[in-house]
Amino acid sequence: MKIAAITCDILSTARQRGATRYEDTAGLKFPQVASQSAQSFPGRADTRHLCVYPAARSTALIRVQTDSGIEGIGEAHAPVAPRVVKTIVEDLLTPLLIGEDARAIAVLWDRMFSAMRLRSHTQGFTLEAIAGIDIALWDALGKHCGEPIWRLLGGAYRLQIPVYSSGTPGQTLESRRRGIENVLNEGFSVVKTSCGRGAVSEQMHLVRQLSDAVGDRGKLLVDAHGGFDLKDALRFARFLEGLGNVEWFEDALLPEDHRGYRTLAQSTGIRIAVGETDCNRYVVRDRLLNRECDLLLPDVCRAGGISETLRIAQLCDVFGVSWASHVSTSTPIHLLAGLHIGAATPNFFISECPSGFAHGPFGNGLLADPLPLENGHITLTETPGLGIALNEAAIADLIIT
Ligand SMILES: [Mg+2]
Repeated sequence: MKIAAITCDILSTARQRGATRYEDTAGLKFPQVASQSAQSFPGRADTRHLCVYPAARSTALIRVQTDSGIEGIGEAHAPVAPRVVKTIVEDLLTPLLIGEDARAIAVLWDRMFSAMRLRSHTQGFTLEAIAGIDIALWDALGKHCGEPIWRLLGGAYRLQIPVYSSGTPGQTLESRRRGIENVLNEGFSVVKTSCGRGAVSEQMHLVRQLSDAVGDRGKLLVDAHGGFDLKDALRFARFLEGLGNVEWFEDALLPEDHRGYRTLAQSTGIRIAVGETDCNRYVVRDRLLNRECDLLLPDVCRAGGISETLRIAQLCDVFGVSWASHVSTSTPIHLLAGLHIGAATPNFFISECPSGFAHGPFGNGLLADPLPLENGHITLTETPGLGIALNEAAIADLIIT
């Protein structure tokens, strides 16, 4: 089964507003500071962020065509400047893979990773592009073998995979409380919320209200997006411990603050979660050796696809660390790729489920047969590969150049 062609299509929600080219979808911005009040300490670095956000959602759909007629589908995370990922796929990686045996996934992964190692492209856009191709190769291999990916990875520890709701949208406390009520009513028992910008006392007030809203009906995950310094993070971690229903404290510090994470992880009983910025096994190795976290959050569409995320998950297990699948503003391909690894690894914790999964433009409607989401779980099946087929008409409605 040889690789005959690889294509990359940019999908964007801006298409539904009439845009046909990416340059017509502009509107990048940093998140708003949640509160600016007298309680904020003057000069606190509220302007430092983990990333810029686009006005419209975008991602990259990868298809690997083989000479046996099998097509594998994958996704590369591409929320900002997706044409960079498309160019890497088309101009750099595809010429390295055409004519090669599509079943030799580990060998081909190494070839792609080695292509720009000297030039330091070992994370970021290049690993996102590699991720899309790698996932498509696994999908093709599954279809070729007539087996689901979870079985090719070694079998299933579980097929009913727990997922959590990604967010509590809205700027006001009331809208977030409503969001929590909605997702609990939909059957989720774990929900994530954001904090970390503005006065710490106000952030504590906000999170306490949301923790109360969840009550004993579920668990709250708290993501600070790198918004705290170490002293505030330590205070906040002690506060979260006292709430009783907070399961993890995510991205408390900037991801490069390795000494800070080590101190934080050793000083609190709340699970310290980090790692959506860690996109290869080597950076994860260093974080684990340094004992910086209790839970790692690799993102399969950023961290080199199924092959590298599996290695990361297995490396975590060596250190007694669990992993949870980070899933961003992306399609069910991304979600499914993480779930297959979740099925096949003993130290899997839970997967993120994007907030638009049920009804959003990048959600379940992109599949020919939508995935059943029941009581906060998605159940994997015996269907070969990723186990999904695309709703091609819905996909065509999202493609821009
Ligand atoms: Mg996060």
